[in-house]
Amino acid sequence: MGSKLYWNEEIETISREELEKLQESLLKEHLALAYNKSEYYRQSFDNAGVRPEDFKKLSDLSKFPFVNKYIERERQLEKPLLGDMIAVDEEEVVFVSASSGSTGVPTLSPFTKRDFEEFQDVQSRLFWAAGMRPKDRYVHALNFTLFVGGPDVIGAQNLGALCIWAGAIPSDRLLFILKEFQPTVIWTTPSYAWYLGETAKKQGIDPAKDLAINRIIVAGEPGGSIDATREAIEGLWDAKVYDFYGISDIFGACAGMCSERNGLHLAEDHILVEVIDPETLEPVPDGERGEIVLTTLRKTARPMIRFRTGDIGTVNKERCACGRTHARINITGRLDDMLIVSGVNVFPSDIEFVVRNMSELSGEYRITAFTENFTNKFKVEVERAIGNDEDSEALAQKVSAAIKTRIGVKPKEVIVLQNGELPRATHKAKRLIDLRQKA
Ligand SMILES: [Zn+2]
Repeated sequence: MGSKLYWNEEIETISREELEKLQESLLKEHLALAYNKSEYYRQSFDNAGVRPEDFKKLSDLSKFPFVNKYIERERQLEKPLLGDMIAVDEEEVVFVSASSGSTGVPTLSPFTKRDFEEFQDVQSRLFWAAGMRPKDRYVHALNFTLFVGGPDVIGAQNLGALCIWAGAIPSDRLLFILKEFQPTVIWTTPSYAWYLGETAKKQGIDPAKDLAINRIIVAGEPGGSIDATREAIEGLWDAKVYDFYGISDIFGACAGMCSERNGLHLAEDHILVEVIDPETLEPVPDGERGEIVLTTLRKTARPMIRFRTGDIGTVNKERCACGRTHARINITGRLDDMLIVSGVNVFPSDIEFVVRNMSELSGEYRITAFTENFTNKFKVEVERAIGNDEDSEALAQKVSAAIKTRIGVKPKEVIVLQNGELPRATHKAKRLIDLRQKA
């Protein structure tokens, strides 16, 4: 059991042709469900002049209207509790997760019993792809309150791992568990993995030698897909880092890294991905950066048809060296965090890439975006590495030039701080201060 390569070989290695056939037939049914059972979708399809029967092949999906977070929230407030995008009676709903609510009212995502079981089966699949096996001890140190990642411990249990339901607890308590129970796998954000490792060291615990963690699953920040960030965390823990992507609005478990760690396999038998230009809303060519749009294929409680995630990334549909055929996504950042500077799209993750690759720097950074003479600009604060005593001016110029090489534009200013001057993040790091004047 522990030696098989895939959680579900048949579906994970299905040929693209067969996969697209499967998606087509699932989507045909799913669009009909949305239209027949959800008040919102019926009206929205009618307004757009499309019927489920107009869907014959995958490319026909582009005839259907988009939905987004704003619509999702509005429908929920209009028809509480679950809104009129739902396609089942509330009686059939057994679980709701809520989005983090970082902007406004938290939005609820309902699951039927079958949706929930399938959600956790995909979770098991993604854990398996990241190398978790029944012999592992898994410490689930994620928030259990409303957060869609909370139940994912069940996916690890169904896989057969020994699961420790820690929840979001203070780092001292978590370190105690890591030391006493010697779990081998943990899930956290990249910032917290770094913070926890550093905190351990301060307490005289060497995460690489004294703890058994050999796999760290990370989500919630782009760092997990930035090689230099991953390598820094891996060095600290002597463990491998696997990036994971899940959003509450869709399904929670959406995509995760395999042993190749070259993009995140999306569960394409449950979710269909499109990449669009966020300005023109037209599809971008395969492999090019754009906004990720996701459509559920099986989630019956609330179908999500063409949900604009606000995440910017790329999709690669080539078969992976691991044998899996499901597309790999790479998330670069949030559309909201994107700065357009001199016509160039700049993401905090681009700056992170540069900062984490310079041995002269500590790896911490903070970006401030602002408007000057009606033009967007940004400045970057960085910290020198311990032991570095280079001239600040020279170091700032070096950072500025490296940013220019990476993204094509220079920051207005680079400020070099001493090690430890920038705030250390515990969970999600706030690395962008946005002072831009919004239109
Ligand atoms: Zn793979």
